[in-house]
Amino acid sequence: MDQGVMIMNHRILIVEDETTLANLISYNLKQKGYSVDVEKNGAQGYQRIITESYHLILLDWMLPEMDGVEVCRKIRRHGVSTPIIMLTAKSTEEEIIEGLNAGADDYISKPFSVGELMARVGAALRRSGDFTDTQPGGDANVLRFGELALNRDTYIAELNGQVLDLRPKEYEILAYFLQKPGMVVSRDEMLDRIWGYDFMGDQRTIDVHVSSLRKKLEGVEGNVITIESIRGVGYKLIQSNVR
Ligand code: CA
Repeated sequence: MDQGVMIMNHRILIVEDETTLANLISYNLKQKGYSVDVEKNGAQGYQRIITESYHLILLDWMLPEMDGVEVCRKIRRHGVSTPIIMLTAKSTEEEIIEGLNAGADDYISKPFSVGELMARVGAALRRSGDFTDTQPGGDANVLRFGELALNRDTYIAELNGQVLDLRPKEYEILAYFLQKPGMVVSRDEMLDRIWGYDFMGDQRTIDVHVSSLRKKLEGVEGNVITIESIRGVGYKLIQSNVR
């Protein structure tokens, strides 16, 4: 256990009323070196969030006293910008959009695997710029997602060992997705980060690029990576064989 563990001081709050699930998540996060607190209802979760400081909040949707969406709205209104991953048995598009619009950064549908949740937690912390990646042997200039690899020095993207023929914007979109594995990326965010704040064009520009990129990905034999549309919000890079 002497390999430089840098995540010791990351504090995560779980707001979840199902004791068994809360304990399971808490146990696994502690195993990874995170410091974990648990609250079992929305009102207490809200109080704790506005009085203490966390790096990440795992927030159940259906909670006694105040539901997760309400907690989310209230803490954002309070100016708390801590990343939030919603844990939800709800999975219709409208419900997911409601959660994201309330200020959640990501959601994970119940039932989920502990492995997937841990990956989302790592991604959310990395994304918030507050995480030191200690993975050994990683090549800093290659972004990976499943069988997809993007070399940031050479601008070459490979999928299942096949080089993709991408336009510069398509490459940038893909690179942006890979920096946020499993996360929903909104059109606004893509406009800002990829096209730049001064871009005066239409959001449909993004849709055209994404749809062309999706076709190129899906054209690779045996590929399971694609771009999922989250209507009214944006896109998400997924592996269709992983749930
Ligand atoms: Ca619940």
